[in-house]
Amino acid sequence: MHIRRPLIVELFTLVFLAMAAMSAHAQSPVTMGGVTAAPGTLASGEFKVAPRPGDDGTVIPFSIINGTKPGPVLALVAGTHGSEYPPVLALQRLRTAIDPKTLSGTVLMVHVANMPSFLKRTIYYGPTDGKNLNRVFPGKKDGTLSDRIAEVITREIIERATHVIDIHCGDGNEWLRPYSYWVVTSAPAVVEASKQMGLAFGLDHIVIDTERPTSPGESVYLANTAETRGKSGLTVESGGWGQTDEASIARIERGVAGVLKHLKMRAEGPDPLTQAVWLGPNEVLRTKFTGLVYPMVEPGQTVAKGALIARVTDFHGKLLQEIRSPYAGEVLYVVATPPINEGEPVGYVAERVSGSDWRPKK
Ligand SMILES: [Zn+2]
Repeated sequence: MHIRRPLIVELFTLVFLAMAAMSAHAQSPVTMGGVTAAPGTLASGEFKVAPRPGDDGTVIPFSIINGTKPGPVLALVAGTHGSEYPPVLALQRLRTAIDPKTLSGTVLMVHVANMPSFLKRTIYYGPTDGKNLNRVFPGKKDGTLSDRIAEVITREIIERATHVIDIHCGDGNEWLRPYSYWVVTSAPAVVEASKQMGLAFGLDHIVIDTERPTSPGESVYLANTAETRGKSGLTVESGGWGQTDEASIARIERGVAGVLKHLKMRAEGPDPLTQAVWLGPNEVLRTKFTGLVYPMVEPGQTVAKGALIARVTDFHGKLLQEIRSPYAGEVLYVVATPPINEGEPVGYVAERVSGSDWRPKK
């Protein structure tokens, strides 16, 4: 005998099925740092890094651009080094230029990762603990201020993201040509996805980075923290030397637009590179002395093996060291302000290789 269910049960079932069908295609709200972005909206807030003995803590300003359809979670981080301005300024523009109404997935922005360094205008190192934020990942909850900033970014941003771009430029003392780092030490699928993201970002000089740690507990670098967790990662460099030039900012905006299109988060955008200058052997050249540094080449210049890259003198002008290129290759950056300390970089050179499949001989 057929028993007819009461009408109310039928209606409830219909509504339930309709909601289930909708939710499979609907974007969810995103909440972090006490702030919620509903689907199709922008929301901003600050992560608090609590004080501990020895420092006053800090804040990390962020934005959530939450799309109307599900998709990737792309994290964009600026200001890991506090005197690198084009990344910070590019995110100020992109914050309102990316329309959540036409976005699939979510863009998470960290506007200034290293606020102590930004406000105190330091290069390389945090002003309270003397640490390089991009060498302390994944960070420590009970560490110094840089360690704790890294821990918050790892937990709140990188853990939530599917794709992470750490946006840099030459630091306040570094004169640089644009390039990106492609890490090839992570899982093969991550390596391939990260390569495609680099081509989509569009900087045509790409360093094949074969020396990043593989352990998630000692990822050291911000982007490598994503990669060691199975997510696509990229470190890009555009601008430097304390400048806020339009070309360097626009290059980052264009790069992000390319990645949004590549990840199908937005329909429109520039196409990926079909070719790049792949850079294999590479070396940060350092000095053994403290004094004044004089760069002898410009970034973007092609140099012969043995070419003079920089001179270091003492404070009375006596030559202490001539630093020469170990490769015939490309100058990616030089230190272009006079102060130099023993052990610090004076420049970075890399050698062109024939393709992206280059790996160092064991
Ligand atoms: Zn940097």
